[in-house]
This record gives sequence, structure tokens and C-alpha cells, in this order.
Amino acid sequence: MRKSVKSVIRFWLRPFFLALCIAGCGRSSPTVRLQWTVMGTIAAVQCPTRAEAESVKAICQRIFAEQERIFSVWDAGSVVSSVNQAAGGDAAVPVPDHFRTVLECALEMHRRSEGAFNPLLAPVLRLWGFLGSNRKGVPGDDEIAKASALTDCRDIKFDGNGCLLAKKGMALDLGAIAKGYAVDVAFDAVKQAGFEIFLIDLGGNIRVSGNPHSDCDGWVIGVRDPHSPRAVAKTVRLSSGEAVATSADYERFRIIDGKRYGHIIDPRSGRPALGRACSVKADNAMVADGLSTALYILDDEKGEALLESFTAKRLY
Ligand code: AMP
Ligand code: MG
Repeated sequence: MRKSVKSVIRFWLRPFFLALCIAGCGRSSPTVRLQWTVMGTIAAVQCPTRAEAESVKAICQRIFAEQERIFSVWDAGSVVSSVNQAAGGDAAVPVPDHFRTVLECALEMHRRSEGAFNPLLAPVLRLWGFLGSNRKGVPGDDEIAKASALTDCRDIKFDGNGCLLAKKGMALDLGAIAKGYAVDVAFDAVKQAGFEIFLIDLGGNIRVSGNPHSDCDGWVIGVRDPHSPRAVAKTVRLSSGEAVATSADYERFRIIDGKRYGHIIDPRSGRPALGRACSVKADNAMVADGLSTALYILDDEKGEALLESFTAKRLY
């Protein structure tokens, strides 16, 4: 991992606490929770017994490592980095099915959100000092316009099992959706291995299976109020298979000339969105992850229409 443990703690420990997981009907947890750091964030599993939690954790660790090799923008050898390096060239880069699934969902999100969700914002994010860039100062309008010209999703070409970005300088960043997808892949693998009752959390992207108690339906998750990180504002019930994700800006931001800029970009302006933090419940973690990022940008009316189209629900 490229980031130091210190920076992981600085940037990611707080979002992890966005979601406190309480197994059962609001009572203290009888489940065992194990957590570790991965992908620059904190992952956790919860199961009825320690032995189960250890096994589920091992499966998740294997899956998350595989997914990181595909989607990490910090790993120069990842599939995403290879596609980005080949941008503007002649040859499409062969990509695995996982990559295609996530990019296709990202493009669907892009369409349904009228462009608010955009997987090609890496050049704009770098201008604002994100994605490992050490760029300082507020970018000028001309720089923003130049970077924004590299974010047209029609310039993503598929060729058989290959992917090509048509213009040099274009770059994918699937960070708004890939963690959710990693949770879904791990969820399927854990089920396949025969486990019924478990919770998987990757940086606040949470999906649950089964009922931890016989006397209630599903899991009760205590979600931190994204507007006030110190308060647990609401508990939500997740039925077996459901997922929740949260997007907020207070955990990852830059201070430039004394002003705070968050890490979610409004593609219409090429500037950090002055958005509204939100939590979204959906049928899988990839959709919840993508929707929470898109909803951060969209106004209420457009946000509701987008949620409806995915039969998802806003919790904040
Ligand atoms: P999340 O924490 O899931 O809301 O994802 C935020 C991350 O998504 C940011 O750190 C960027 O890497 C990326 N991102 C920023 N703005 C957008 C956007 N408008 N559409 C898609 N991805 C974005
Ligand atoms: Mg997201």
C-alpha cells in the first residue's frame, strides 16, 4: 500500500466510524467483530463466533487483495493503471470481467445521474491535489477546462475483452464504486463457502447476510450522522443481502488558501462539490456505493429520481 499507516488513520479512520454495526435488535452485540486495514481504509467482518469470523476474514482478505490488483490507482501494475497508461494509444488493454462489470455499472450511473457520476475525473481530481498529486493552490479556469475535456465517457472504447481510453491524458478512477463491488464479490464468496450469518464492511460500504438473532429480522446498523461525525443519528435495519454506503467530505479534503475542498468533484463545474453528505441503502454494495457518491452532488429532485431508478433509498 502506498499510503503510510499515519495517513490511513488521518484520512480513513473517521469514515470507518460513520457506520457502527450493532448486531441484533438494538441490543449490545453478541457477534464477533474483526477488523484490519486494506485499500487505504479499514475493513471489518462480523459473525456469530470467532472461528467463523476468522474464516470469513480470510476469504475477504483474499478477495480484497485480488480486487485491489484490478482497481487500485496507487498500484502502477493494476489493470486500471495499465488502461490509464495506454490512453491515447492504438491498442486496447485486456481487462478481466470484474473490471468490465464495474465500469459498465459506472457508465450506467453516469447516464442515469445525467453526468454527475463520472469515472473519468482523475485528471480533475489531480488538479485539486487528490489521487496522490502534490499540486498546490486553486487551479485556474483554463486548467480546469483542459482537464474537463478529458472526462467525456463517450471516449471510453471497448474492443472485445479490451478497453481503450481514446485521448492521451484520460484516466479512470473507479474509487467511488469499486470498494462496494469488492464487498459484493466477497459477499458471494463467503456465501459460496457455506456461511449464512455475517456482515462485511469495507470503509463504510456494508453488506449483511442472514439474521444474527432469531427474534428479529436482519441486522441493525447504527449510522453516524454524516453532518455531525460525533453523533450516531439513526439506526437502520438491513435485511439479508442488503447494503448501505455513505459519502461525506469531512474525512478526505484539502485546505487551499485557508478554504476546505472535498474529494467529490461536480463534473459540471470541475470543482469540488458543495454537496450534502448522504447514506444510501440498496440491494447490493456496488450500487449503494455509486449512488451515495452521485447523490452527494445531485439536488433532491434529481437524487430521488436516480434512487428510484435503482429501487434504492436515501437514509440521510
Ligand atoms: P465515495 O467515498 O464512494 O463517495 O467516493 C469518492 C471518490 O470518488 C473520490 O475520492 C474520487 O476518487 C471519486 N470521485 C470524485 N468525484 C466523483 C464523481 N463525481 N463521480 C465519480 N467518482 C468521483
Ligand atoms: Mg461511493
